[in-house]
Amino acid sequence: MRITALAGGVGGARFLRGLLDHLDSRPTDPSGGPHEVTVIGNTADDVTLHGLRICPDLDTVMYTLGGGIHPEQGWGRAGETFGVADELRAYGAEPQWFTLGDRDIATHLMRTRMLGLGYPLSSVTEALCARWQPGVRLLPMSDDPIETHVVIDDPEGEPADDGTPAVKAVHFQEWWVRLHAAVPARQILAVGIEQAKPAPGVLEAIADADVVVLPPSNPVVSIGTILAVPGLRDAIRATKAPVVGVSPIIGGAPVRGMADACLTAIGVETSAAAVADLYSDFLGGWLVAPGDADSKMPEGVTLKAVPLLMSDAEATAAIARAALDLATELR
Ligand code: GDP
Ligand code: CA
Repeated sequence: MRITALAGGVGGARFLRGLLDHLDSRPTDPSGGPHEVTVIGNTADDVTLHGLRICPDLDTVMYTLGGGIHPEQGWGRAGETFGVADELRAYGAEPQWFTLGDRDIATHLMRTRMLGLGYPLSSVTEALCARWQPGVRLLPMSDDPIETHVVIDDPEGEPADDGTPAVKAVHFQEWWVRLHAAVPARQILAVGIEQAKPAPGVLEAIADADVVVLPPSNPVVSIGTILAVPGLRDAIRATKAPVVGVSPIIGGAPVRGMADACLTAIGVETSAAAVADLYSDFLGGWLVAPGDADSKMPEGVTLKAVPLLMSDAEATAAIARAALDLATELR
């Protein structure tokens, strides 16, 4: 069975870990073939800091599936040290709100060096995964640089003549990490996305899939940006494979993180149904938490209620199994 999943960082990676655990317990599909999982990773969180190109979501997937992740935190390396960060701080190097661990820096050095030699991000990611052996084919959504920027009020800026307050755009990482998404986002923009092309293999992975899965990743800045890569959403609409998703919203709130601030910025309510509505042009099945079962879902979407907290490996594998079972029902 060929499974293609779209994924952001922590939510996506945890779900994928559960998916692989579930598949490990069933090494072949009913036809006797092996399972192949392709992950299309969000690259719009990417940022250049201290001259290093950082791909937080790709790395979270790679470390989580490759056994290098900090387990409680859900991102960054296990057993990390911060000698370089301490030295940078001693130099007063900005930005100080984003700390890179020493082990993690090695990944960014490798990536930056290869990009500098002219390799596309997809080749770089493949090379990094040769070490981590994540058990999936990890593809960046695009080889072209795309960066999510957030437009916020600028209290220091001059208001316009008509009194409209000044605004400024900050990188998504600054809004998320430094400002904790507590400053209202007036707009969320994926800079560079209009000119971007899907990375090699991405459209094929969607067209040739037996099932397309949307893990419980952020619907705006993870899944939303992947779908906004030109041609990608059309490919998902056109694929013959059933598309099933897992709600990142339980009982009107995101489980971890501040996805509600992103949904508010695009004028969408924080509910399982409203997120399903964002995908209604292609979504076949939607897993929601038991308490959300009676919400009004978009027409044509088959709803299934199961516990959706990825509290441990077993619970997460059960969610993945429920997603695949729902896809089988739809096929
Ligand atoms: P990020 O890039 O690290 O922010 O991670 P993702 O975009 O992949 O996932 C973030 C989303 O995961 C958030 O909107 C959370 O609501 C969702 N999430 C995190 N943990 C869980 C969980 O245990 N269950 C469900 N259903 N969603 C979760
Ligand atoms: Ca992310």
